Amino acid sequence: MTKIKYYPPTYESESFNCAHCRVYSSQYWCYLRTVRMPHVGHIIQDRTLPDHFAASLCGYCRGWSIWIEEILVYPAQVAVENPNEDMPEDVKKLYMESAQVLSTSPRAAAALLRLGLQMLLGVVGGDGNNINDDIGKIVKLGVEPETQKALDLLRVFGNNGAHPGEIKLDEDPGLVIKMYELMNYITDRLITQKDQINELFEGLPEGIKAQIELRDNKKKEEKS
Ligand SMILES: [Zn+2]
Repeated sequence: MTKIKYYPPTYESESFNCAHCRVYSSQYWCYLRTVRMPHVGHIIQDRTLPDHFAASLCGYCRGWSIWIEEILVYPAQVAVENPNEDMPEDVKKLYMESAQVLSTSPRAAAALLRLGLQMLLGVVGGDGNNINDDIGKIVKLGVEPETQKALDLLRVFGNNGAHPGEIKLDEDPGLVIKMYELMNYITDRLITQKDQINELFEGLPEGIKAQIELRDNKKKEEKS
């Protein structure tokens, strides 16, 4: 995972990470400036509107973003990766809820993802109470070093969303964007891949599975 700077959509900025496609791209600005008022006697009068209504066009995906009084109103949420299919439903819900508040509060978004992580850990071998303890438990069960790092990154970023910390999430919302990718990564490692391997293993002929069990029991006897 490379460190890519994330520039959130900003009013009248020439380029930012598009809320539709997430690509850092040039933005073309348009303004709704005149209103045509028909009057009695068919005199048409043009009135100038204050600079309250604007739209920006993404140079990459050609998607429109709509702004009212300098606030992004459409799309309603900044696009993030779709949650991994195998993510437990309640965690998926928090993930989506987090994405909805990302543009207005990166810290609230991070805190929601932290809660999602806590619940996820409860499903994959932890007790779902203390994130730090649960990561310790899961590491003991055996995970790749990258999975452990991903878990700790989520924990540390999430803590900074929930408590004041050294990492300023509102100054670098790109870190919160990374949290969604990390959530998907750990779901893939701790759920998807395990399920796939278990399924393949279960499909082995009974005789072969029995041989493997016999071998492992022997090893245990040798050890004791
Ligand atoms: Zn775009």
